[in-house]
Amino acid sequence: METPQATSPNPYTIPLDKILHRLREMFGEDRAQLLRGAEFRVAGETERVVAFPQQREELSEMLELAHRERWRVIPAGAGTWLEMGNKPTQMHLVISTARLNRVVEYEPADLTGTVEAGCSLTEFNQLTAKHRQFIPLDPFGDPRLTIGGTIATASSGPLRCAYGTPRDWLVGITVVHADGKISKAGGKVVKNVAGYDLCKLYTGSYGTLAMIAEMSFKLRALPASEKTMVFYADDQKNEIELLSTLAVALSDSDVQPAAMEFVSPGHNASLPLDPHRHALVLRFLNEPETINAQIDDATRIGGYCQRSVLSEADAARFWTAYHESETADDWAYSFRLSALPAELPGLVADLTQVLPDTHVRAHAGNGVVRVLAPLGWLDNFKTKERARKVAEVRRAAQARGGQLLILRATPELTAQLDVWGEVGPTANLMRALKDKYDPQSQLNPGRFVAGI
Ligand SMILES: Cc1cc2nc3c(=O)[nH]c(=O)nc-3n(C[C@H](O)[C@H](O)[C@H](O)COP(=O)(O)OP(=O)(O)OC[C@H]3O[C@@H](n4cnc5c(N)ncnc54)[C@H](O)[C@@H]3O)c2cc1C
Repeated sequence: METPQATSPNPYTIPLDKILHRLREMFGEDRAQLLRGAEFRVAGETERVVAFPQQREELSEMLELAHRERWRVIPAGAGTWLEMGNKPTQMHLVISTARLNRVVEYEPADLTGTVEAGCSLTEFNQLTAKHRQFIPLDPFGDPRLTIGGTIATASSGPLRCAYGTPRDWLVGITVVHADGKISKAGGKVVKNVAGYDLCKLYTGSYGTLAMIAEMSFKLRALPASEKTMVFYADDQKNEIELLSTLAVALSDSDVQPAAMEFVSPGHNASLPLDPHRHALVLRFLNEPETINAQIDDATRIGGYCQRSVLSEADAARFWTAYHESETADDWAYSFRLSALPAELPGLVADLTQVLPDTHVRAHAGNGVVRVLAPLGWLDNFKTKERARKVAEVRRAAQARGGQLLILRATPELTAQLDVWGEVGPTANLMRALKDKYDPQSQLNPGRFVAGI
């Protein structure tokens, strides 16, 4: 059994009204609010102070104040995913970039753009679509989610298959450190590579090293057209194996789908798929002739499976429903596992054995697997057995060179299991970075891997 995470009986040692008063006095009435309910809720607390800086300099001054007062800060974007992570060991203040949301620069001719952290990815991509360009990232979640939050969590979605992860598109970053100092890394264009590694360091640091204030991206041209193709295995007894083998064969071929998703039955959404069968769904984004040639190739490779090309309307419906249903409230449990792509059949088979009655989805091209289950799913097990079940799957993923992350679970389960799992020797390196960048553990204390 894993060590339960450290908890603090009362994370607030400073009265919230004092913090609120101080912030309002310094920055103005509208810059801080006392919020109750689900908005910006971090860890089951009932109320929290949330500050909303509107300029980078204001963010810097707020962090400087927090540093002086020794307030522990929870960095936030739109606050749509603050439930993810271990419970903070201490927390006094949430600082949100929701109002730090301008597009600073957009140069269609250079295929580059610079945005403030709170800019919504959906809105930015709507703007750039006018010039047939986009940041090719499609993370799951609420459309309000911010670009800063996407970078801080290194979030990607099905398009990762062709376009990679946020690290591949970020070329420059401005951050505000725990003491309020501002620093920049990288540049506005790809060739300005000084500090490029720092961009990579901040990407996926979950707000534990610094607050992201601004980012520069290279953009991609929007593909001219798209089609979606679905494969089902003829032999229903060996569906998982046949479809996984097909996914590996497609990955090794010249077929280059933009997304390749393995979807198990039991989905709660109105996906235009057979609800009783496993499916492998391929999304092609390209010139129409190239797509047709790729579909011909995929048909040849997957000749032993049933296949169909969705109508334009069904394809659009599928991808919208697929995204929305991933983060729907119906799922009380959501786990993300990883394994080498070739290990996918084994991992999915482990999952169906150890965690029956769950819904499994995977980025079949890169071995990222998501497991979703409704509330009540673990009701047949005693409280202690529930955590053991999940720990067993975590071990199975580790044995296949991967990891299990708890994206969403009941408080009862997260109180017994570390959200991130063991990271081995990397923990020492991460602790050293935390000590260097945030020596007083002021940002997101205790929320990340290895208690960082
Ligand atoms: C239910 C659910 C499931 C999800 N599942 C997945 C998934 O499977 N895969 C995936 O890749 N993504 C997933 N996401 C994440 C999502 O795609 C976004 O990355 C996330 O919601 C960020 O949006 P936000 O602005 O609301 O960030 P918030 O929810 O406000 O913050 C998210 C995290 O980023 C940090 N953060 C936010 N802004 C900053 C900043 N400016 N500087 C420093 N740190 C910051 C916060 O401290 C926090 O740790 C999921 C989201 C939800 C709601």
